[in-house]
Amino acid sequence: MPDDVLVVGGGVGGLVLARRLALAGRRVVVFERSDRFGGQVARHTVAGVDLDAAAESFATRGGTVAALLGELGLADDIETPLPKPAWLYRADGSAVPLPATGVLGIPGDPAAADVVHAIGRRAALRARLDALLPARVGADASSLGDLVRRRMGRGVVDGLVSPVVRGVHSSDPYSLPVETASPRLRDELRASGSLAAAVERIRAAAPAGSQVAGIRGGMFRLVDALVAECEGRGVRLQTGADASDIGAEGVTVNGRRLTGEVVRAGAPADAPAGRHVTLATLVVEASGLDSAPRGTGVLVASGASGVSARALTHVSAKWAWVGERLPGLHALRLSYDGEPSDAIERARADAATLTGARIERIVDATSAVWRRRPGGAWAGTPEPAVGEGPAGTGLASVVAHAERVAERLGADSPEPASGGRMEG
Ligand SMILES: Cc1cc2nc3c(=O)[nH]c(=O)nc-3n(C[C@H](O)[C@H](O)[C@H](O)COP(=O)(O)OP(=O)(O)OC[C@H]3O[C@@H](n4cnc5c(N)ncnc54)[C@H](O)[C@@H]3O)c2cc1C
Repeated sequence: MPDDVLVVGGGVGGLVLARRLALAGRRVVVFERSDRFGGQVARHTVAGVDLDAAAESFATRGGTVAALLGELGLADDIETPLPKPAWLYRADGSAVPLPATGVLGIPGDPAAADVVHAIGRRAALRARLDALLPARVGADASSLGDLVRRRMGRGVVDGLVSPVVRGVHSSDPYSLPVETASPRLRDELRASGSLAAAVERIRAAAPAGSQVAGIRGGMFRLVDALVAECEGRGVRLQTGADASDIGAEGVTVNGRRLTGEVVRAGAPADAPAGRHVTLATLVVEASGLDSAPRGTGVLVASGASGVSARALTHVSAKWAWVGERLPGLHALRLSYDGEPSDAIERARADAATLTGARIERIVDATSAVWRRRPGGAWAGTPEPAVGEGPAGTGLASVVAHAERVAERLGADSPEPASGGRMEG
């Protein structure tokens, strides 16, 4: 059937593309190697509650994910995180609230009291030199870490940027390209003359309200809704379907050659391997956590001794729906570089250290290992492609890009959402 679109990969990118093409009347098949759809959006059950096992939120910028959720009938279930600060666990073992006015941990006002409190007076003074340096300093830096170090000093990188980038983006600031971290940062630096002013400009241009949102009941509901709608529109969805010999006009699936218009929606076999991260999720009794002493969670500064997690999310304090489903209990999620074999034991000890609360009892716990590839990791493959390779990491990028590719391949533009758009 040469007019079929053959989508290789059933993550969110592949499913969004398949849905949109099916809505435009195209015949679509999605091949998914594993036994479930969704890829890095997945559920697991902990203490009887289905929780997100990987992605738990989406960036609200652009409004594309909210628009899609509106089309899928999930607009009323979009939920923003509870308004609590994140905390920073410093290298010396103390914890402070993360300064409020930053981008990727870079302070918009290095003289602000919360910045001085977080990194110390000397590092904050060094950061203020940024305002006096010529705009060209750091403008050619290749990594975010290099850029911030040259403008504001090592104290800001180690004390603020590194914990945020490690905890939120699972990468090291010195290996994170500036454009991947923040596409506008370099231009704003050139235009405004200082990094702090660039940060302020980016913040001022951001829409009001929360920068991220989730779905009441779990981000994985997006996958359930996409699968249901694809099925309803006649998309053929195949699990256990490993595609190889992928070319522009055909693909071999489980040994059988099929022809059609191929769209890649998963990483090629020769893509950069990326890094493994392990997430340990604990549901615990700990009355000391009832007041959410560390807000929505804790980011760990590099070099902090006695703790091996790089971030902790107090899931039930961040998402109202999780708290409601676990009365009297707390859900915590800790992330680790690599694949520690004793992740649950480490998580129990780290949870107590990072929150300062006694963990009275672990009710249930589980861990999951994920591979995180750098954004843009497999950009430039010859055939049309969707997903985080060409789009960049994160659901906002993946969904918006898949919608654009669908349009290029002949689907109509997405209809305006009937509600639930997040941008102000
Ligand atoms: C732990 C973790 C937390 C995250 N948190 C967030 C978050 O809070 N917010 C956010 O926006 N993003 C988050 N992300 C990133 C986000 O989940 C991903 O960027 C996004 O889901 C990628 O979607 P995708 O469709 O590009 O790829 P994937 O989800 O990786 O899906 C690709 C699919 O293709 C299949 N496949 C690949 N090759 C083949 C083949 N040859 N044949 C058949 N099938 C194939 C794979 O099995 C997979 O199911 C997180 C990721 C992880 C791992």
